[in-house]
Amino acid sequence: MPEGDTVWLAARRLDDAMSGHHLTASDFRIPSLATVDLAGRRVSQVRSYGKHLLFRLEDDLTLHTHFRMQGTWHLYRPGRPWHGGPEWEIRAVLSTADWQAVGYRIPVIELIPTAEESSVVGHLGPDILEPDVDIDDVVRRLEQESDRAIGDAMLDQTIVAGFGLIYVSEGLFLHGVSPRTPVRDVPNLTRLVDRTRRLMAANRERGAQTSTGSLREQHYVYGRAKRPCRRCGTSIRFGRQRSGRYERDAYWCPHCQPG
Ligand SMILES: [Zn+2]
Repeated sequence: MPEGDTVWLAARRLDDAMSGHHLTASDFRIPSLATVDLAGRRVSQVRSYGKHLLFRLEDDLTLHTHFRMQGTWHLYRPGRPWHGGPEWEIRAVLSTADWQAVGYRIPVIELIPTAEESSVVGHLGPDILEPDVDIDDVVRRLEQESDRAIGDAMLDQTIVAGFGLIYVSEGLFLHGVSPRTPVRDVPNLTRLVDRTRRLMAANRERGAQTSTGSLREQHYVYGRAKRPCRRCGTSIRFGRQRSGRYERDAYWCPHCQPG
């Protein structure tokens, strides 16, 4: 699943390619937008908020997309072959004179007034990748959920936006705390949040999600169920935990992350 850093990088690449330029064509392959034509509109900004992507167009119009599990935007020079997937998985194509942005498998794609962006991102917690994110505020929000498992609370986008399973798994490993530990029992939440944020920030520019510092052995626990812990050799555990409406995955080393 794309995490905040993936969406941040997608937004930055789209922003670099398209901001300030006029759309020469738009092609939406979903019923709700099938008749929409954005040709002639200038792209003013492309921004991410958590895992949401916002294309801001002139005249108070925002194209809001969310990748969920599989979505992605690809950028191509006009005339170059597209290779993001089969044709039928394309949901939208936005063209400028120099670039074509092709959205594959994007489940959420809608046009809203820019002034009403809060209707799609207003329920979210602080965006963890904002340069001036208030870490103390994020910690306070977590502390308000003191009975919940930390691995669940950090993934709740209404508490803090942008974290996904990879970084929460890795951040908790580095902190030496099991994802099932109640928030109230986690020592030094500030350090946990800040380190997990820095893991994401370090990776976002290179588009690789490594927490070990190595691109060959990218993760300590994420995606490594039943394989030996890189620190102690214990078999990595994988489990699901129910939390309200959700069932969340978790990876952890039972030796390095007791509790
Ligand atoms: Zn271990």
